[in-house]
Amino acid sequence: MSHSIIKVSASAMEQMKQSYAGSLTPAVPQGAVFQAKPPGCTITAYRSGKVLFQGKNAGTEAARWGTAETPKAKKTVKKAADPLYAPPAGIASMSVIGSDEVGTGDYFGPITVACAYADKTKLSLMRELGVKDSKDLKDPQIIEIAKLLIKTIPYSLLVLKNEKYNQMQEKGMSQGKMKALLHNQAISNLLRKMNGVKPEAILIDQFAEPGIYFKHLSGRDIVKEKTFFSTKAESIHLSVAAASIIARYSFLIEMDKLSREAGMTIPKGAGPHVDEAAAKLIINKGEGALRTFTKLHFANTQKAKRLVERKRS
Ligand code: MG
Repeated sequence: MSHSIIKVSASAMEQMKQSYAGSLTPAVPQGAVFQAKPPGCTITAYRSGKVLFQGKNAGTEAARWGTAETPKAKKTVKKAADPLYAPPAGIASMSVIGSDEVGTGDYFGPITVACAYADKTKLSLMRELGVKDSKDLKDPQIIEIAKLLIKTIPYSLLVLKNEKYNQMQEKGMSQGKMKALLHNQAISNLLRKMNGVKPEAILIDQFAEPGIYFKHLSGRDIVKEKTFFSTKAESIHLSVAAASIIARYSFLIEMDKLSREAGMTIPKGAGPHVDEAAAKLIINKGEGALRTFTKLHFANTQKAKRLVERKRS
């Protein structure tokens, strides 16, 4: 199926809508102004001004309104990874400190940041222990592998509980800055633990552009030497996969503790089931409990309060 994308002004979009008045769909996708289905084409116009044409007549319909953005042009718009901080070739078989975090998108529970050192002589052992991308692992496997890992390789772990998180957030610190501080601290703690053993590289699972990461750390002792960034770094070096497993393990332990404290199961994520749990927590323990259990600034707080109001009325 072919498709075309064009960008139009608000007034042109209104004109298009009128022109397709006879074929507008009753429901529109999220973020869309309108959707129309003239013969052989589905047209979706977005608030951003982009209009997507899909189907066999996509090209001809799009041509009525503007010049399509070619996929090639789109590629050049995409910002290339900062080559200065891209992992070097062959990093997979090097001795590396990897760093990753868990819990940043979860309403309940802390942020846990772990880094782990995988010496190249330990890589095959780590693979035997089952270390791989934690997205492919279920919680029981994470727990089992993490317990073995923390006895096998040097690591360091930081847990930022929500009471502290909320304090920092209310002082105006972004989550990005908190993460940068935690990663830098965890790595520097691990280097100290390693007593002069130097990794060939440090690889951070990228959550911000490297320039921004270092900007967050200005004025502090920054670990910068041989430090590289990559998204999906878990699949680039086992040390990051190990760090991720340890961070997730720690997060699971903390969530268990919170569940025991709350006397109910505290769920992961930030979806509607989380709003329900937060509402239950407010009813059982009072609104003040949110400060220790949750990341208060998430939209879930307001949603949970509304649920409580509804339940009480
Ligand atoms: Mg990550």
